[in-house]
Amino acid sequence: MSKFKPFLLTTAFALTASTAMAQEEQFITIGTGGQTGVYYVVGQSICRLVNRNTAETGIKCTAPSTGGSVANVNAIKAGDMTMGVAQSDIQYHAYEGDVPDFEGDKKVENLRAVFSVHPEPFTVVARKDASIAGFDDLKGKRVNVGNPGSGQLATMEVVLDAKGWSMDDFSLASQLKPAEQSAALGDNKVDAIVYTVGHPNGSIQEATSTVEANLVPVEGPEIDKLVDENPYYAKATIPGGMYAGTDEDTNTFGVKATFVTSADVSDEVVYEVVKAVFDNFDRFKGLHPAFANLTPEEMVSEGNSAPLHPGAEKYYKEQGWVE
Ligand code: GLU
Repeated sequence: MSKFKPFLLTTAFALTASTAMAQEEQFITIGTGGQTGVYYVVGQSICRLVNRNTAETGIKCTAPSTGGSVANVNAIKAGDMTMGVAQSDIQYHAYEGDVPDFEGDKKVENLRAVFSVHPEPFTVVARKDASIAGFDDLKGKRVNVGNPGSGQLATMEVVLDAKGWSMDDFSLASQLKPAEQSAALGDNKVDAIVYTVGHPNGSIQEATSTVEANLVPVEGPEIDKLVDENPYYAKATIPGGMYAGTDEDTNTFGVKATFVTSADVSDEVVYEVVKAVFDNFDRFKGLHPAFANLTPEEMVSEGNSAPLHPGAEKYYKEQGWVE
């Protein structure tokens, strides 16, 4: 037996050595949104792909549920999150510091774009018995306008401003989280809910199947003007038949979900995250139906307004996706 001892010792040494290497692990966190939304799946999917390579890269990724876009860019600014998902309008305003949420000290100068993801129509769902056929019918109604920190609350404020309305035009403007608002609609606590979110998704499915409900078009001259004047907005259509109660297409406007980080995050980390996603792109696309139409070329070129992070740029150059 004794002659095996040196071998065992060698193995033990080798294991210790590799453990020491593994201790150089880096933990990264991705800010997402509510657990019933699509951001949560974006974050979880990216982490799943990143964590397949932990043995080689040392990077360990987690993607907790958060309040959404505004919460995520603020957490990135503070260094509490490494990366996060944010609406293209929030990316723009956070970097430019041109709206009250991000003015002065609140400007997120270190924000960097990584890639854009799925389109997110500004989605309004109303109880059928509330007889809401268009956005203007929301006047005087009980509306869940989005939780603090969410993209939908920020976009709702923009829409109200464009229409010359305020939160006081609703009889109730509640701020429940996405995971709570579908039930609130079903329980007749509110007449309508808003969610800037990719489709199809479980949250709107729940809202439209627990009670008779319809999607509400968001259109008109004020919306046309918003889309004409701002590069991060586009007209959007939610296909008829996707959800119970709405057989016709619903016209609205929307943004893109984008993936962002900080200039303070190393090129190496961002490169490895981007590589994990695009080296396994078909697998990534298969993780949520809202990802079905994604193409790398569009993800790199559309929806991003903050400067591209150099770690991401390096990978895109290697692929020939950017000059
Ligand atoms: N667009 C929403 C937000 O910024 C989140 C949507 C989702 O979680 O899929 O807060």
